[in-house]
Amino acid sequence: AKKVGRNNFQFFTEDLNRIANDRLNIEAAMRLALEQDGFEVYYQPKVDGQRRIVGVEALARWFHPELGPVGPDRFIPIAEETGLIQPLTVAILRRAFAAARCWNQDRVEPLRVAVNLSPLLFIGQDLVQRLGDLLDEAQLAANCVEVEITETVFLGDKDRAVKVLEELRTLGVQLAMDDFGTGYSSLSYLRHFPLDVVKIDRSLVTDVESEEEVAMIAGAAISLGKRLRKRVVAEGVENQAQFDFLCEQGCDEFQGFLFSRPVPAAAIDRMLEAGG
Ligand code: C2E
Ligand code: CA
Ligand code: CA
Ligand code: CA
Repeated sequence: AKKVGRNNFQFFTEDLNRIANDRLNIEAAMRLALEQDGFEVYYQPKVDGQRRIVGVEALARWFHPELGPVGPDRFIPIAEETGLIQPLTVAILRRAFAAARCWNQDRVEPLRVAVNLSPLLFIGQDLVQRLGDLLDEAQLAANCVEVEITETVFLGDKDRAVKVLEELRTLGVQLAMDDFGTGYSSLSYLRHFPLDVVKIDRSLVTDVESEEEVAMIAGAAISLGKRLRKRVVAEGVENQAQFDFLCEQGCDEFQGFLFSRPVPAAAIDRMLEAGG
């Protein structure tokens, strides 16, 4: 029986302690998992208008023996605060690049693997060098890789961010602006930064069939991307009506539960064998 009132403060500090302990536990568990190669990578297909797989997005997964599955929305922020994001990203890229190498063995058109890079990685000095080393190690061509960044990458030192992005592009990887349509100044970023792809955020895709205004905003975002000659990808496509609308508006690629949830590499193997 929890009394409210005088004891509020006590409950409050108990909550804070619990949260702090949680974070400490997760941090410690993450360190251990990193030592034991305990993080998994799942892949979510990106398809074209004919539903053919043209790429995949690599998404970090963590199945802890006691904590159970821990979502990236939970562990990525902790990794960013504790500096573990760097080794974690290396572990994920290593797996994703090895898988991409297999998938690209005898293909004419490259199957692109997209990886998410935390804005924090752009502050360090060696992102481009490390990425290049990982490509070499996997013997993977750079044009098989797409880097997804969010616009928060530009909140810090803009000039530095632009420089790193240009170096990444020189390396040969493609650059995608993730979660497009959610931020404040996306439009000016489109103008100033070297991007190949814009990914329309799920929040815009979700309501395209039910809300006329959302449909107009999504449509405008897509045609803007097209006119700037970017590849336009829609994420979070869950039903046929959304897919139809986005096709009609000229989206190039589609990703979402309608086509597939994120799945282990072996499931992608099977989809590719099936010719999808
Ligand atoms: P994101 O980059 O926007 O990734 C898309 C998220 O939407 C994924 O969640 C995916 O499972 C989910 N999703 C895909 N299709 C649908 C759909 O049709 N409906 C709905 N409701 N959801 C869909 P997930 O895997 O939980 O990842 C969450 C976020 O965590 C990602 O958002 C990304 O920001 C971050 N993240 C995941 N893996 C990594 C990583 O390796 N590095 C970094 N820095 N961030 C990562
Ligand atoms: Ca992403
Ligand atoms: Ca996204
Ligand atoms: Ca998103």
